[in-house]
Amino acid sequence: MTDPDDAAQRRLDANAAAGPLAELFTVDLTVAMATCAGCGNTAPLAAHPLYAHAPALVVRCPNCAAVVLRFASGGCRLRLDMTGTRLLTVSLAGAA
Ligand SMILES: [Zn+2]
Repeated sequence: MTDPDDAAQRRLDANAAAGPLAELFTVDLTVAMATCAGCGNTAPLAAHPLYAHAPALVVRCPNCAAVVLRFASGGCRLRLDMTGTRLLTVSLAGAA
């Protein structure tokens, strides 16, 4: 069992994730493999149907049509809802 004091000492402010997250969000996510949280289907994000005429971009699962991703930009905000994505896998070019 984990000692609560050890866990507290290992906890960082989420700002420490800025570097790793910056690596993720500078890649072309359309080549990422997205796994649907609803049915478990895995496919390249680019192979998913996109509905761009809504207030947000809406990406649906090609298998069950559940919403996998919503993205909205406007003003000084970007919003990304990935509730419908169980897993997003990005292969980094040149990584071993
Ligand atoms: Zn699905």
